[in-house]
Amino acid sequence: QTEFPHPSRTRYIAVANQKGGVGKTTTAVNLSAAWAEAGMSVLFIDMDPQGNGSTAFGAAHNPDVVSVYDVIEGRAKFQDAMQGCEDFSTIDIVPSNINLSGAELEIADMDNRVFLLRDALREYLDHTDKHYDYVVIDCPPSLGLLVLNALSAVQEVLIPIQAEYYALEGLGQLIKTISLVQQSTNPTLIVSTMLVTMVDRRTLLSKEVYSQIKQHYPDIVLDTDIPRSVRVSEAPSYGQSVIAYDPRSIGAVAYRKAAYEIACRSEETLKRIPR
Ligand code: ADP
Ligand code: MG
Repeated sequence: QTEFPHPSRTRYIAVANQKGGVGKTTTAVNLSAAWAEAGMSVLFIDMDPQGNGSTAFGAAHNPDVVSVYDVIEGRAKFQDAMQGCEDFSTIDIVPSNINLSGAELEIADMDNRVFLLRDALREYLDHTDKHYDYVVIDCPPSLGLLVLNALSAVQEVLIPIQAEYYALEGLGQLIKTISLVQQSTNPTLIVSTMLVTMVDRRTLLSKEVYSQIKQHYPDIVLDTDIPRSVRVSEAPSYGQSVIAYDPRSIGAVAYRKAAYEIACRSEETLKRIPR
């Protein structure tokens, strides 16, 4: 097994794209799992009311379970919502559930409405002995308040891009939103990583999409891409990442490689983020 370098300080990464079905959750889950497998300590925060990331980690997330919804609205502490992960002892999971879909309206009039997640996270990290190598936030498919909370709580955005004909459509809007966040609530935020997902290596289209994105964002797009594979899509129904479900499958190998590439870029990336 390859030795992964630990980042010299915690990397805070939001996995975001307002398009649904591009591989956000799959990417957030499997990168987290790959880092944990390599001995990194990971905090996974599910900010999507769908709770797919919670499901994929086998975390309880029925509406009665304390979740990130209670945390951002101040009814519960981070620790109260946190769950362990059966497959990886070094992952802590803060699940979401469908209640979170009410949050956007409920917090809309608060002055600190975009800082609720950031402040709860800070409060937790200031009072725990735990050190995390990676804090990973899975975003819902929108550009609403939940996403703004995620973007205000992290230092990096990772954008998964599905290898399809319309891949770059909507990317401009996402980049614009990120710029607005930089100008208002989080000046040091960067787009550190783009990952091309669901690649069908047999098709010319996938290759063309990859090289087009790579041309636009040469330093940001990972060399590794993620192939489309049935094992990847099956894993969540067993409450597992593909890293745990089928460690030698092409999807697991690809996500491990992507996780390694991101880890190897840590110092270069952290240099772009002032303390
Ligand atoms: P998002 O979080 O952006 O909505 P998901 O990660 O949930 O996207 O992925 C959308 C769908 O595509 C899911 O059913 C997921 O299992 C499937 N999927 C994601 N990545 C792959 C892949 N590499 N191969 C096959 N299916 C995938
Ligand atoms: Mg998702």
